[in-house]
Amino acid sequence: MGSRAERQTSLILAVVASVVLTCLIVNFLSLLRKTISPEIYLIRCAVACAAFTLPICGGWMAFRLGGGIVFAVFATVVVIFVQTIASAALFLWFPVVYSLTCFLLYQVDSYYENQTSAVAVDREKMQNKINDLSVSYKSKGQAISTQFEKYSQYYNFRRLAEKLATTISVAELSQMIVDSCLDFVPLGDFARVALAQEQQDQLAIQAVRRSIRAARTVQQHLDQAGDLFDFWVIKNRRRLIVGDTQQDFRFDAFETANVKEVRSIISTPITHEGRVIGTLRVGSSKTKVFSNDDLRLLDTISVLASSALSNAMLYEQTENLAIRDSLTGVFVRRYFFERLKDEHRRTLITKRPLSVLMCDLDHFKECNDRYGHGAGDLMLIRFAEILRENFQGGIVGRYGGEEFSVLIPEATKEEAVRRAQVICKRIREDSFEIRRERISMTVSIGVSSIPEDTLDHEQLIALADKALYQAKREGRNRVCSHTA
Ligand code: GH3
Ligand code: MG
Ligand code: MG
Repeated sequence: MGSRAERQTSLILAVVASVVLTCLIVNFLSLLRKTISPEIYLIRCAVACAAFTLPICGGWMAFRLGGGIVFAVFATVVVIFVQTIASAALFLWFPVVYSLTCFLLYQVDSYYENQTSAVAVDREKMQNKINDLSVSYKSKGQAISTQFEKYSQYYNFRRLAEKLATTISVAELSQMIVDSCLDFVPLGDFARVALAQEQQDQLAIQAVRRSIRAARTVQQHLDQAGDLFDFWVIKNRRRLIVGDTQQDFRFDAFETANVKEVRSIISTPITHEGRVIGTLRVGSSKTKVFSNDDLRLLDTISVLASSALSNAMLYEQTENLAIRDSLTGVFVRRYFFERLKDEHRRTLITKRPLSVLMCDLDHFKECNDRYGHGAGDLMLIRFAEILRENFQGGIVGRYGGEEFSVLIPEATKEEAVRRAQVICKRIREDSFEIRRERISMTVSIGVSSIPEDTLDHEQLIALADKALYQAKREGRNRVCSHTA
């Protein structure tokens, strides 16, 4: 059946046609008494009666068989009226014709009804199939996207593992780890690695990565290692998830008040062979940002990174033992010479100056004899400390006994002498207490430079040494530079 508008139009047309035809017939019948030939009027009436088939079809179109019958009955009444007035028995065929029309329409209707219902059944079946397919498509799509997510995570983990194997530097490893933390947990504002320090109980921040979202105030939080969350992770040897640092009953509200800028935290211990060597943390300034899945990812990164980090830490410790003097922490003579060769090579290529200072404490033997070897050691430690403080960009080595050497890349002879004088003054003015006695020390320093004095690195040291002995000869507690 057509739409509601089509049905209404069909009904209106059928009614209008019926009214028009009835009026025509009544009009023709009234003309019968007039002079025009009655056969022509009868033919016209017959045509008008035959035309009633149209409103019957209209009624059928509007209300199917019921509509057709109503208009057929109406047409039959009109035909009987015409037959009575016009005494034309032949007109009684018309009700038969109308009935036949209704019957035909009924047949056509049932045929199309059957066709339509068959099509509807097929359509319903197709629709069901479409629904089934779309459900399976959706579930397959979900399975594929889950698989894809898993695959890309495995791939990223593999890449991280490969990258971790490319270096043995703790700093580089830590940076790789924080970078991948934010790749795996993109909702984090920052990631940080804190590692246990050699011969110390505290942690130190090794690497930090901030996302562009991170507020500036987070920096303060990132500079501190060994806070209450690190302590919790290390003490419990467990991973930690905090939805809101300001609401978590596990932590003292007084202490968490200092970390208002960080509201969500996930953290895991970095363990190696049962020992906690550090912590890994991702945080955000919003509350309840991280899920248990994020924590699991962080844990996997920590497991992947732990042996690489531990090996690198061990390597750096061993390397430090090999290149640093155990008493003063400055470089040993052998390593100092290696660095001297490197810097010398660089100086020849870049044509930049290079200076060396040879420093020797004055009358150190007397101090040893008077205050003891232990006090002498303390003086050496203090002296090395002052040298390291003053030559941050330089290379400080213990040349032997109480003699230290300093390599100052890029420093001209003039600048080196000036800096040596600063050291000389600093040592002179420095004093410390040994056995309730304030003691002070003095130092003699010899200076030589490339290119002013020589272009050879061995000669450079020999000339500085010569200048040092000149300083000793001239009365100690002074700086002498090589003069040709
Ligand atoms: P000068 O002013 O001529 O340099 O006199 P000096 O006494 O400093 O020089 P000398 O070379 O005679 O003495 C160096 C002393 O340094 C001898 C040695 O006992 C002492 N010494 C060397 N290494 C160490 C060390 O590791 N610890 C201590 N306490 N003393 C050391
Ligand atoms: Mg000396
Ligand atoms: Mg000496």
